[in-house]
Amino acid sequence: NRTPLVAGNWKMNGDRSLVEAFTYSLNEQAFEGLDVVVCPPNGYLSMFNSEQFSLGAQDVSHLSNGAHTGDMSTDMVKELGANYVIVGHSERREDHNETNLLVAKKAAKAKQAGLTPIICVGESLSVREAGDVNAFVGEQVAALFAEMSADTLDGVVIAYEPIWAIGTGKTASPEQAQEVHAFIRNTLAEHDAALAQRTRILYGGSVKPDNAKALFGQPDIDGGLIGGASLKTDDFMAICQAA
Ligand code: 13P
Repeated sequence: NRTPLVAGNWKMNGDRSLVEAFTYSLNEQAFEGLDVVVCPPNGYLSMFNSEQFSLGAQDVSHLSNGAHTGDMSTDMVKELGANYVIVGHSERREDHNETNLLVAKKAAKAKQAGLTPIICVGESLSVREAGDVNAFVGEQVAALFAEMSADTLDGVVIAYEPIWAIGTGKTASPEQAQEVHAFIRNTLAEHDAALAQRTRILYGGSVKPDNAKALFGQPDIDGGLIGGASLKTDDFMAICQAA
């Protein structure tokens, strides 16, 4: 009885006319029993008029305010209309050297501010080929508990995004994804069984209209975090309908 969630991560893409197209298309639909989130670049957040969906930022500072040029605080993204925020995307881990500890601090800050963090984890191809997926992803999940209790983690969303499947057209098979999702849920259960049952775990990595249904049909896959296909209204709607 976890409500499925589909979130679109525009990354550094889109423009004002795409905001208008999405505002129009998504507000036409009433999504029953499904949470839909669009995460545009921060500057576009307040251009949306979201009635049938929610907004999310793609990153946020772990600090409250101050001399941190270029960063945005949780209060700022909330004021712009965000209810969610992606933290720890592999592109931020790579481009900005974000560590497990920093990601945990960001998740904690977001949760404390009343935002729902979508916390991304996932391994590279070399980690997978070395057979170290569980060790690697397990460490990313375990790091959250260094900064947050099981109580404060209640309500967060986790997104499993294998790096080798992001933007490559190579999706994890439903079985491959399910295996890691079940592992993540078991890792949460080692801390708190109820938390594990309630936490939504999304899959991300080349989700398209034609593979969404099989992925979302897996018992531990509670929706998706969509990159490329979240930039086209028709594709994104079709993926929402598959959830
Ligand atoms: P793609 O759907 O483009 O593979 O991107 C996935 C992703 O990184 C979402 O955050």
